[in-house]
Amino acid sequence: MGGMTDDRADELGRPARRRSTGEVGTAFAPFRDAHVHLGLIGAVDLRAGGIAGAVDLGWSSDVVDLADAAPVPASYAGSFLTAPGGYPSDRAWAPAGSTHAVAGPEEAVDAVERQLANGASLIKVVLNSEAGPVLDAVTLTAIVAASPVPVVAHVQGPGLLEVALEAGVQVLAHTPWTEPVPDDLVVRAAASQRWISTLDIHGYGTATPEQDTAVDNLRRFHDAGGEVLYGTDLGNGDLPVGLNSRELALLHEAGLRPRALIHALTASFADLPTGGLLAFIAGLPTHDTVAWLTGAAVVHVDELELIR
Ligand SMILES: [Zn+2]
Repeated sequence: MGGMTDDRADELGRPARRRSTGEVGTAFAPFRDAHVHLGLIGAVDLRAGGIAGAVDLGWSSDVVDLADAAPVPASYAGSFLTAPGGYPSDRAWAPAGSTHAVAGPEEAVDAVERQLANGASLIKVVLNSEAGPVLDAVTLTAIVAASPVPVVAHVQGPGLLEVALEAGVQVLAHTPWTEPVPDDLVVRAAASQRWISTLDIHGYGTATPEQDTAVDNLRRFHDAGGEVLYGTDLGNGDLPVGLNSRELALLHEAGLRPRALIHALTASFADLPTGGLLAFIAGLPTHDTVAWLTGAAVVHVDELELIR
């Protein structure tokens, strides 16, 4: 096999030709969605939509079977760890086993170990004071300390970003949208966290105050050097299956230029294997980066040859 190898398609992209069609274009590491819920969407064909890897950010353990059946490599964050009675344990969409209540720091190790035993490669915690009780700071800190894998937090409510930062939470499942994050906290977050974008869920194509707040928070996080990951929360509302041009346009609005956009789409996260897949965009790059990226196809490495 004389094909190009995965590590030759880095985030800058490489000129390549598609064997089957002769099309010339650019190859990248596979594009991923860092926030989906397979339990809500099933094993849909993300690959046809240009997505070559997905991270399930919370569900019952039977989603592992869905991840195995998914047409692209998928990783799983386990159940939502939350306070007893906390969000989303009361939600109609959350099946039995999708939440795991952690009553105090003494339960942290067991809670984490159960998720890892079920195949989780991340730990998901929920801090939502707008919809119920929230894990206290001591319990959250104990969960982070107990976890050998990154902890991803859903943060919703006043003051909770600071709680997550103090506890050492490494990833936010959503760009904060409920309030403007003070600059000093943005700088602290940029130094220690990765933020998953999920900007389009605050409007689905229509600008809203919450979306404006999230875009402004993300712009300042990115300016401060914070690492942004592309994620859509697919399964939450009316979102396209595959690359979401509205999400990419909002990332662009937040100041991510081509290199940062491509990093957000390709960054290594949640132990996702490549499966030998790459992103391939036919034709020359255009000034409309969002439209150009949205045209990405998922191809196997053997389908491409590098142009020297
Ligand atoms: Zn979600």
